[in-house]
Amino acid sequence: MIKIHTVLCREGTMDNYAYILIDEATGISAVLDPSEAAPIIKKCSELAVTPAYILNTHHHFDHTEGNLELKERYGAQIVGAAKDAHRIPGIDITVEDGGNFKLGDSKAEIIAVPGHTTGHILWYFPDSKAVFTGDMLFNLCIGGLFEGSPQQMWKSVLIIKNLPDDTLFYPGHEYTAQGASFAKYNSPDNPELDKYIALAQQKLAAGQPVCPLPLKLEKQCNPYLRARTPEEFLQLF
Ligand code: ZN
Ligand code: FE
Repeated sequence: MIKIHTVLCREGTMDNYAYILIDEATGISAVLDPSEAAPIIKKCSELAVTPAYILNTHHHFDHTEGNLELKERYGAQIVGAAKDAHRIPGIDITVEDGGNFKLGDSKAEIIAVPGHTTGHILWYFPDSKAVFTGDMLFNLCIGGLFEGSPQQMWKSVLIIKNLPDDTLFYPGHEYTAQGASFAKYNSPDNPELDKYIALAQQKLAAGQPVCPLPLKLEKQCNPYLRARTPEEFLQLF
């Protein structure tokens, strides 16, 4: 099982989330998607952890710009998709779709979800019921299609929809407010969505991240996950 700490980065501009993951059995830890180094260094010293790995979901600078500084500071090894090996700064270890990565005793399954970028992966820890979705899935919306097609993204969305309902998801940005207006516009009369938005507003007002939330809610409320056919999905673009 992993313990997860959320770290807000690029506050007020891109509102990225990086995560510190600690394998409870061994104490071995990792940083996922270090958008910038400073807030992560601060959190690591508070927690007294020395990350052994840096895990990336995709190559974009707002997920990798802390890679080199943290690698140098902690002697951490950088892990990312083989497809992105040429464009993830400082990469040491590559992972492939369908493969695994062991963080101490905790196993991550690597799942390719092209669409936002061609090399985007999910980090899925089935035993901890946690999935790190980077810029593939946000609260009530999905990531922009920088490199992939809507058809590719539809397949990636189906993969998310097939993960268990009680999986908690950890996105790459705090975009709930934007997602909420989009979702409300698409389904004005969804009582589950109204509850979701009320809960999100409470958390945001308290200065807390909206996530983690279970995928069940996302399947009920996120317009892209609610689409039942490729046609319905494509209408959202
Ligand atoms: Zn991105
Ligand atoms: Fe991003």
